Amino acid sequence: MPMKLPGLIDPHVHMREPGATHKEDWDSGTSAALAGGITLVLAMPNTKPPICDAGTLDLALDSARSKARCDYAQFVGAGSDNADWGRHKALPPRTAGLKMYLDSTFGQLRLDDMALWTPHFENWPKDMPIVAHSESRSMAAAILFAAIYDRPVHIAHISLREEVLLIKAAKERGIKVTCEVCPHHLFLTQDLTGFGNLSGLTPGRKEVRPRLATQKDVDALWQNLDVIDCFATDHAPHTIEEKDSDNPPPGFPGLETILPLLLTAVNDGRLTMDDIIQKMSVNPRKIFNLPEQPETWIEMEENAQYEIKASEQFTRCGWTPFEGWKVKGKVRKVVLRGRTAFEDGKILVKAGYGRNVFEN
Ligand SMILES: [Zn+2]
Repeated sequence: MPMKLPGLIDPHVHMREPGATHKEDWDSGTSAALAGGITLVLAMPNTKPPICDAGTLDLALDSARSKARCDYAQFVGAGSDNADWGRHKALPPRTAGLKMYLDSTFGQLRLDDMALWTPHFENWPKDMPIVAHSESRSMAAAILFAAIYDRPVHIAHISLREEVLLIKAAKERGIKVTCEVCPHHLFLTQDLTGFGNLSGLTPGRKEVRPRLATQKDVDALWQNLDVIDCFATDHAPHTIEEKDSDNPPPGFPGLETILPLLLTAVNDGRLTMDDIIQKMSVNPRKIFNLPEQPETWIEMEENAQYEIKASEQFTRCGWTPFEGWKVKGKVRKVVLRGRTAFEDGKILVKAGYGRNVFEN
């Protein structure tokens, strides 16, 4: 008997469209999502151009409308001159939320000057999420802003012991902070130890932000799983040529590996199925006010063992940091809004079947 789970939600993906469709586009990226058991993705705004106003939002959503195969929503980016959200009231409800880049990242949306944070915190609708890419000290600052403005802030991809402990302390004091962690920060350390075969990872392929951390950090994440609200991939595809170049961009693909890695951890007794359901369905739906997807579920074979191979993936980037890892638990079938969207390695819905969950 295959095991059933709800359709999973990934609140942090980079679809690379507009602007870098040689890495990924709405078609290949959402196909990868379905193959990974994910039926709803929230797309980040650091594309080319960045998504920061009605015009650029339309650009991304027009591509998504014609190409996406799973459901989706698009974040808008906080820039240095677009904080006047009160004058553009129609825009926020069309988005998944506001993304603020407070630390070094890929793309042009970095807010170095703290004076630029305030108007976004003041003007972004209070009932809509703000997601912060903020590491260590800037994460502490983002949590202070959440407390001062008494509004929810979701911290993207935490990776350090000090971060998970600070979020724990903030939650205990009633500050409206939530967080996500990515599989690569749970399964890999900076010296690339892990349970699988790590040969073939060049220095460029190791580049990711936040950087891979120490074993002590990884252990702290596992020990504080109850503090972690969501598992997210931060699916950030770059081609092999780019990763192996002299100037490798940071980022890992992750849509097709998150669930097998987590199911393997369930098999090893480090995680429960309920953890996966809470952190990949219940909590992201709550945090990002996402509507239910009716008649949507995934079926897995819990005991199917196989090796992760980039050559079998739908992502356009052509590699995975988990190449050759032996995992247990395979996505067999994905049903999205009553239609079989993926079965036995094949995508069965057309480009454009995916819906923007915030537009009718
Ligand atoms: Zn990201």
